Amino acid sequence: MEQTFVMIKPDGVKLGLIGTIIQRFEHKRLRLVRAEMMQLSLEQAKAHYLDLAHKPFFHDLLQFITSGEVMAMVWEGPNAVKAARCLIGATNPLESPSGTIRGDFALELDSNIIHGSDSVENAAREIQLYFPDYYAAKSVS
Ligand code: UDP
Ligand code: MG
Repeated sequence: MEQTFVMIKPDGVKLGLIGTIIQRFEHKRLRLVRAEMMQLSLEQAKAHYLDLAHKPFFHDLLQFITSGEVMAMVWEGPNAVKAARCLIGATNPLESPSGTIRGDFALELDSNIIHGSDSVENAAREIQLYFPDYYAAKSVS
């Protein structure tokens, strides 16, 4: 069964969207496997967004993602990576249709409520980064 990593960003947490977002994922018939509120260190944020280190917005992104608590989650189901990205919508909320989380609740690119892994490989990498004990136990079993 496929798993993906999803994270409600500080703006989503501050806006009180945790319940709404979890409900959308449950309605899609994905299964919540792990969930934890946490505040990211700068090191964790850098490790997460490694691929974007050369981008002009990298510094602002690190600032934003470490600015408050996030809700880190692992969701499971058939094609969970793609299914989660469909629920989340496009990176730019203005290009994300109504019915998607970013289309319904976000207005700006730099505060777009939620993260979801973009591939099965990155999902594994991100699950390992945020839930190392769970990832290690899973790899052994
Ligand atoms: N981002 C930004 N400015 C940009 C592009 C991206 O602030 O021009 C932020 C945005 O919050 C996005 C995150 O960087 O969610 C990661 O970018 P990515 O291209 O991986 O988009 P995602 O996978 O989150 O849709
Ligand atoms: Mg991405």
